[in-house]
Amino acid sequence: MNLLVALFIAAVPAPHTTPAFKADPAHVCGSCEAWNAPHEPFRIFGNTYYVGVQGLGAILIHSDAGLILLDGGLPQTAPRIDASIRKLGFRTQDIRLIVNSHAHYDHAGGIAALQRASGATVAASAWGAKAIENGGPLEDDPQAGFGKETNAFPAVKKVKVVADGETLTVGNAAITAHATPGHTPGSTSWTWRSCEGERCLNLVYADSLTPVSAEGFRFTGDATHPSREASFRKALATVAELPCDILFRTHPDFEAIDARLAERKKAPGGPDPLVDPGACRALAERSTRALDERVAEEAKEKRP
Ligand SMILES: [Zn+2]
Repeated sequence: MNLLVALFIAAVPAPHTTPAFKADPAHVCGSCEAWNAPHEPFRIFGNTYYVGVQGLGAILIHSDAGLILLDGGLPQTAPRIDASIRKLGFRTQDIRLIVNSHAHYDHAGGIAALQRASGATVAASAWGAKAIENGGPLEDDPQAGFGKETNAFPAVKKVKVVADGETLTVGNAAITAHATPGHTPGSTSWTWRSCEGERCLNLVYADSLTPVSAEGFRFTGDATHPSREASFRKALATVAELPCDILFRTHPDFEAIDARLAERKKAPGGPDPLVDPGACRALAERSTRALDERVAEEAKEKRP
């Protein structure tokens, strides 16, 4: 073979090379750039890895029959998630199941591209499934008033509906859905067990619990909408009671997490600084105070 032919063959990529990731157009918002700053992927515990960015959670669970991905971030987070998955030595095309916390552009926006890259089943609550198929939250979302254009994200054609308490499995991995409505009517938190040898822990990916809304929306209801307060408080009670050794959230707090990861590196084999069985209860308490404040504000506004 002459030199030119040899050079030509060397330049052609092998057929099993990963295809380039095809992202959807970026979503533009005030916090998007800061949220989407990259973060190194890392093993959380056992078969569970962090593949999200600085401000938006995404979790990968490895099984003997493919991968589970929790959340897809913004449309522009999807290629970062893809890169993190590959950096850990896994393959994006091996994702079999993608689940969602809530159907807003910053957690569901990257799902469509990740689904296309993998052929994975996408699953969410009944409300969440409708919103993801719709490419934006439904009319009864507290943030619907921000407008269709602001709220829109790439839609997924077919989303599997998951009931409260239902467990989904991929190979030897299983995750359970917990309805935690409030931030959206379809908000869902996810739990699973993960083991390192004999040691098994309860992991939680808790959905947003903040009472954020567009102008004019009332969590305590108005002439045309019933109050959401009781179901929101029930969701907070659910989160407080979740089996919870390691908690990750939709908007992770990397100041705290990075400090704990540094501690972990310093003392390998010691108690894991990421383990905090009180974390879900503490999150529920903080979120209850925020809801109390919101309810008090709405009561003030209602008074003539
Ligand atoms: Zn949201």
